[in-house]
Amino acid sequence: MSLGLGKIKRSKPQANSETKSKNSMLILGAGYAGLNVYYRIRRRVGVRIIASSDMFVFETARLRSVILNKQNYYVQLPSYIIKETVTDLDIDSRQVITNHGRYEADIIVIAMGSIRSGLDKILYSATKSDRPSIASESRFDEYIALQMALYLNSKKKQVSYAGGFMDWLGEEVSKTVRSVVEESGIKIVDKADYIIPAPQPPAPLDSFIKVDENLMIKDGVYAAGDIVDMGPKLGEMSMKMGIHVANSINVGRPLRFEPMFTYIMDTSSGKGIHIKSNLPWRGSYQSVKVSALRLLFKRFIERYYIYRKGNMGFLALL
Ligand SMILES: Cc1cc2nc3c(=O)[nH]c(=O)nc-3n(C[C@H](O)[C@H](O)[C@H](O)COP(=O)(O)OP(=O)(O)OC[C@H]3O[C@@H](n4cnc5c(N)ncnc54)[C@H](O)[C@@H]3O)c2cc1C
Repeated sequence: MSLGLGKIKRSKPQANSETKSKNSMLILGAGYAGLNVYYRIRRRVGVRIIASSDMFVFETARLRSVILNKQNYYVQLPSYIIKETVTDLDIDSRQVITNHGRYEADIIVIAMGSIRSGLDKILYSATKSDRPSIASESRFDEYIALQMALYLNSKKKQVSYAGGFMDWLGEEVSKTVRSVVEESGIKIVDKADYIIPAPQPPAPLDSFIKVDENLMIKDGVYAAGDIVDMGPKLGEMSMKMGIHVANSINVGRPLRFEPMFTYIMDTSSGKGIHIKSNLPWRGSYQSVKVSALRLLFKRFIERYYIYRKGNMGFLALL
């Protein structure tokens, strides 16, 4: 079957690619989504998690760290992660080929995230500039561009921003975000020098994955996190997708996933804007709250996830 997996590169099995083992479950990717699946089903027999990196990176803390030189933003994951790179996968036969071998499984969860090539360079160059102007190629990344502009602005630079104010989350959200940005002194311009590249699927995939309302591609094959073709890419939502897939596996039947964009933006003036909206998925829920407490909550979340190695824990209930 093609996922459109016809779009996945078909690599010839390599000499060392004999089947390693028949697994009950294979999770591909150990980021926000994959880890949150793993933490909830790891006690089952034959569950494996494969990822090309054994580091968990908390992106929002990384952004803060690069610009403001603050806290740690990554953590080494324990040895349960099989550090291999997926080079091919076949959904019909549920086979995964990595740079070290071939695996088979009854259930596969694809949680390989997304990449924004060149983002590091843009982050570091904008941080060095005295007059950085920021934008994002994808409107769904406006939240990252705006956060970046607010952090840079707190470093007494002359910051400008080119883009929207997350209008796709509703008028209440865009009005609040725009007024915070304008009050901060950030100039609104038409063009920017530092543009956050749009997210792309990681190799070997060459498109984001379409799933049904239960996050399934077909029986026994799920996708979760940024790799899913579902609009905005967000860590909080990726974690919830991971938990959702694990719940479906645990109860033994598909459960309907209800997406919600949930995000706390740091105003850089001591407050947090707590945004919740399901408008991108034809919902009608929209909520925006601004307070110092929300900022403390954001800081707590940053530390909590690092400490818990990406495990969403009780925050999944919020
Ligand atoms: C600068 C920045 C700031 C952000 N700020 C926020 C924020 O404040 N709040 C928020 O909610 N979200 C934020 N995000 C978004 C968030 O980081 C992503 O939505 C989240 O990382 C997606 O989680 P994921 O598990 O789908 O993918 P990832 O966390 O990217 O994990 C992907 C996993 O797949 C593995 N992998 C990839 N390719 C392969 C392969 N071929 N073989 C094997 N393994 C592979 C990787 O090693 C990794 O383990 C931010 C993103 C950026 C870039």
